Amino acid sequence: MTETHVRTCPLCEAMCGLRVTVEDGHVTRIRGDDDDVWSKGYICPKGATLGHLHHDPDRLRAPLVRTGDSWREVSWEDAFREIERRLRPIIEEHGVGAVATYIGNPTAHNFSLGRYIGAFMVMSGITQIYSAGTVDQWPKNVVCALMYGGMWSIPVPDLDRTDYLLMLGANPAASQGSLLAVPDVLGHLDRIRTRGGRVVVVDPRRTKTAERADEWLPIRPGTDAAMLLAIVHVLFAEGLTRPGPVADKTRGIDTVERLARPFTPEAVAATCGVSADTIRRLARELAGAPTAAVYGRIGTCNQEFGTLASWLVEVVNVLTGNLDRVGGSMFANPIAWSQVGLRPPEFAEGFTFGRWTSRVRGAPEVLGQFPASCLGEEIATPGEGQLRALITIAGNPVISTPDPTTLDAALPGLGCMISVDNYLNETTRHADVILPGLSPFEQPHYDELIWSWAIRHAGNYSPPIFPPAADRPAEWKILLTLAALVGGQSYDEINVTELDDLFFAGLTAFKQAEPGSPIADRALDEITAVSPPGGPERLLDLAIRSGPYGDAYGTRAGGLTLAALEAKPHGIDLGPLEPRLADVLAPQMDKIELAPAYVIADIPRLRARLDRHDDGLVLVSRRHLRSNNSWMHNVAPLMTGKPRCTLLIHPTDATRLALDDGMAARVTSRTGSVEVPVEITAEMMPGVVSLPHGWGHDKPGVRLAVATAHPGVNNNLLAPGDRVDVPSGNAALNGIPVDVRAVEP
Ligand code: SF4
Repeated sequence: MTETHVRTCPLCEAMCGLRVTVEDGHVTRIRGDDDDVWSKGYICPKGATLGHLHHDPDRLRAPLVRTGDSWREVSWEDAFREIERRLRPIIEEHGVGAVATYIGNPTAHNFSLGRYIGAFMVMSGITQIYSAGTVDQWPKNVVCALMYGGMWSIPVPDLDRTDYLLMLGANPAASQGSLLAVPDVLGHLDRIRTRGGRVVVVDPRRTKTAERADEWLPIRPGTDAAMLLAIVHVLFAEGLTRPGPVADKTRGIDTVERLARPFTPEAVAATCGVSADTIRRLARELAGAPTAAVYGRIGTCNQEFGTLASWLVEVVNVLTGNLDRVGGSMFANPIAWSQVGLRPPEFAEGFTFGRWTSRVRGAPEVLGQFPASCLGEEIATPGEGQLRALITIAGNPVISTPDPTTLDAALPGLGCMISVDNYLNETTRHADVILPGLSPFEQPHYDELIWSWAIRHAGNYSPPIFPPAADRPAEWKILLTLAALVGGQSYDEINVTELDDLFFAGLTAFKQAEPGSPIADRALDEITAVSPPGGPERLLDLAIRSGPYGDAYGTRAGGLTLAALEAKPHGIDLGPLEPRLADVLAPQMDKIELAPAYVIADIPRLRARLDRHDDGLVLVSRRHLRSNNSWMHNVAPLMTGKPRCTLLIHPTDATRLALDDGMAARVTSRTGSVEVPVEITAEMMPGVVSLPHGWGHDKPGVRLAVATAHPGVNNNLLAPGDRVDVPSGNAALNGIPVDVRAVEP
């Protein structure tokens, strides 16, 4: 029997609509859904291989329990009883403070995990939280928390209508949008240029994105903030600032003007490797364009000055009058609000950081987390407060966080490690129990957070294609059960339905308490009576019905519900973004805080950088269209073609170091060393080399047949754990000084 299903790809911010052909229970073809109102048929190679992921024999389908070096499949009840047996004595002796969790990036893309990770953290009582966020976008979260009052109030470039786009440290040709939900970003860049606009890409590497732009500007890694501050200097010096309608809603413009004074284009040019004339021209182009948007992504975050660079992206958008303006940088107003966008009570009076510090390194908490690189030392270092148990959720920090050697060595010392994960990988091989989630095709899909930075007000709900086996719990049930076990309940006491009801009631009450809530007057039992029975569907329904276009549970005629969305299998599109700054600013903020004290306190460090002359080679990381961070390397069709885990190096540097294409080089930083094949290419700027992120599948004891055959090297071995962007604690994975030399045959 042949069936065709339409659904959304859950892998990245593009959220492409797919047409999935299933023959006799087997996925035989996936292509883009031409009728999808959002993606209009766009698809990338990863989406086309989701069938391979679903049928992957290495994907875990039953819980695994470790005995020594071997694993045995057990029932779900036995798995949870084993967890209880291992966790309880640790918590009884050391308290819940001895338990940490690490949350990986796929959590944000998973229908269940995304909606229940908050419940897991609150109900478990775990406060030691580590995540992939601190090797990714933490600087942007810090900046938006302080400027707009919400860590996820992140504006996006209005790609459909802008006349000028300045992109820094972003390569959507490999990653699609990031903190920017849009399908086919390169198509959008083409259309900007076709309608007479201009696209400029700033990056140490001439990426495939840069090749589609009008101009590629190579920049020394880690100096984006200096260049942006020089642009700000020019805007003031030449009288080009024109904040427009947001001027009256912005505090601190004078402070920014004062701070930018010493950062003349001439003062930063040598440090950045960008000429003063070019910096002046960029400032004038940004100010002169009818509309413009500056967009910075992972390269501007994962670096020494991630917070300053992320802040200055916002500053330039404000000063040129492009924040909250059609064609500029705008805030989405998604159909379904995201839980993480709810205002945390502890920050009701504003955000403060450094409320506590890590035990070993003394790192300040930022948004409730320490740098991911602290995790290994907090496990390995004895003493009061030592971590003794860890729960990883859809994460592989042994591959994807700095200083993985310390973490990899520390994990076997834990008294208990639990992993919610679909694979026995480089991290989960250390677990005592692995709890696998469902395949993407066995569960519904509607992105929880990602629509918060979409370029249109659209949405699409996908039902599951395959029913999961009768005994398989979805991830949300796994998380609630784990939370209850950590929280002190015995396995026999746990009632997942009650916990879910509690969570739903709490979220509903939270939403009802918001000023102007459309459901403020509705009784909980009235709401539950017309809601799906429970689980993430009920939460999604709540988020839609109490959202900006929702029916408010029957009080807004024609308003949206989950059922209405389900009736539109190709999605709905309610149109482009609209200015909405007044709604975005947190209640405690009457204005945009253009010069947050916490952020500008880092400027002396940037000034000192201008006096530092590090002329040696530095390393940056890169992504690839066929990779998805540290996973998807077990999907055979994505691993074809020439080897991708190579050291990119400019011909001038290669000649100086006597390196030939294809020969092995040893790359050494102050913390590690890897041996990797050389790929000589003029796409790198001289003085900068690049390794891809997410490789190093050479550990024993994993169950990843395809990935193990293409191991590559782990670039994070070269990343010092203490090399962070100071204000955010985010890993500074780019601009790492390295020594490169040929390996003698
Ligand atoms: S770009 Fe690729 S991975 Fe991302 S949603 Fe689309 S098909 Fe999936």
